[in-house]
Amino acid sequence: MPVATSRAPITWRQGLHGLGAAFGSPQPAAALPDPYWIAHDRDVATLLGLDEHWMSSDEALRALSGNTVLPGSTPLATVYGGHQFGVWAGRLGDGRAVLLGETAQGQEIQLKGSGRTPYSRGGDGRAVLRSSIREFLAGTAMHGLGISTTRALALVGSPLPVQREEQETAAVLTRVAPSFIRFGHFEWFASQGQTTELRQLADYVIERYYPECRDADGAGGNAYAGLLRAVSERTAHLIAQWQAVGFMHGVMNTDNMSILGLTLDYGPFQFMDGYDPRHICNHSDPLGRYAFDEQPGVGHWNVACLARALLPLIADVALAQTVIAAYTPAFHDAYLARMRAKLGLRAAFEGDEACIADLLRLLASERVDYPIFWRRLSHAAASGDHAPVRGLFIDGAAWDAWLLSFKKLLALDGKAPEADLMLKTNPQYVLRNHLAELAIRDAKLGDFSTVQALQRVLAHPFDEHPGHDDWAGFPPDWAGTLSLSCSS
Ligand code: AMP
Ligand code: MG
Repeated sequence: MPVATSRAPITWRQGLHGLGAAFGSPQPAAALPDPYWIAHDRDVATLLGLDEHWMSSDEALRALSGNTVLPGSTPLATVYGGHQFGVWAGRLGDGRAVLLGETAQGQEIQLKGSGRTPYSRGGDGRAVLRSSIREFLAGTAMHGLGISTTRALALVGSPLPVQREEQETAAVLTRVAPSFIRFGHFEWFASQGQTTELRQLADYVIERYYPECRDADGAGGNAYAGLLRAVSERTAHLIAQWQAVGFMHGVMNTDNMSILGLTLDYGPFQFMDGYDPRHICNHSDPLGRYAFDEQPGVGHWNVACLARALLPLIADVALAQTVIAAYTPAFHDAYLARMRAKLGLRAAFEGDEACIADLLRLLASERVDYPIFWRRLSHAAASGDHAPVRGLFIDGAAWDAWLLSFKKLLALDGKAPEADLMLKTNPQYVLRNHLAELAIRDAKLGDFSTVQALQRVLAHPFDEHPGHDDWAGFPPDWAGTLSLSCSS
């Protein structure tokens, strides 16, 4: 049983813990043998008011491995349900995470991989080093890209053996977000007919995160319909950003959908290499429910699950339907805006939608490397030299034809691509699978310098990082052999 530390480095405030016993089970983290530091994020530490001195202390290592309880913290495993791969999965809950509390800055802190809880359902409550490194780096990478995400304060390893397909070792990730509440939290109480708790949760979320919904303009004066609208819009915007940057979540189950529209629960995620809209990044998803081009539609399906859960509060089926129908146009507009920005344009131009669709078809027909294409196009806009872009295509004439049609459309509209906008929209660095794998391989040998260097680069993905050009290059052949599953 972990013991309490002496001083109070974090000031807590009442958050989710105040909702009562129906929302989770008090659950201290399990002891983690011989913990060691792998990495931490100074920006996240600053966000929480933690200084470097504390972050490098033994006290921090003990607390962020789960070996001691921070003063004032009462770790809690929360209960939620969810639809997994389209099927209602019943009760899930934090099976390997505990919420330490909410800081005075309004950030929730969770330990992930911190041992068994009442919701572990036969699992060991642990997370392996491999998947924890991926989640640590993913939070940094997405934040650097300007995409809403949970973040990580620190990553701690341990020699504790953990059995997956093979024996691996354990790690504990300290995750940070304004809230870890999921669609599945609402679905759970709705599924149990616990309307009082459902309302309590909805009121809490509105009060804390969507106060504008209390007035619920445009949602018939119905605060809960207003909440549904706001979450639906945020989800549409988030997925528009994923599609534009070429991010695949891999497991878009409703228990992995954030009520704040954050990218949440990084498992077998992937950033696109060669452009393939049908790409499935999760080996555990043979039917491709969560294939890249399915994500926008799945977002809508998930929002519909949330709508069903909120129906006892909204109490108006037609209104709920109207609200979620707005998801599709919201996604469409947000996606087009992102894609235009990738082309260097701040506003619509005549024929833009068809022009973008043609380009994506061309990229798909040759599996052109997605990040490299956009980055080279950005440099071409600055220099006027399109040869490096053309060089990405086997059928150079097809590229010439697209470029010519694009230039004609812009000329008709009197517009020109802004290279600056493109260089700030099309990253030089994304967390490709093989880059995470390089960091994991080194970490397994006890060398954490690659994790830390990748973290520094990915925090500023639009900048050039001398000495790390290789990380912006094509994936090596072995990247195609990497297989990611839900095993983590
Ligand atoms: P995920 O697939 O990681 O989103 O997890 C789905 C559900 O399974 C959540 O309730 C998790 O807490 C739970 N879970 C996943 N892995 C483990 C594990 N090793 N031990 C206990 N629960 C787990
Ligand atoms: Mg999950």
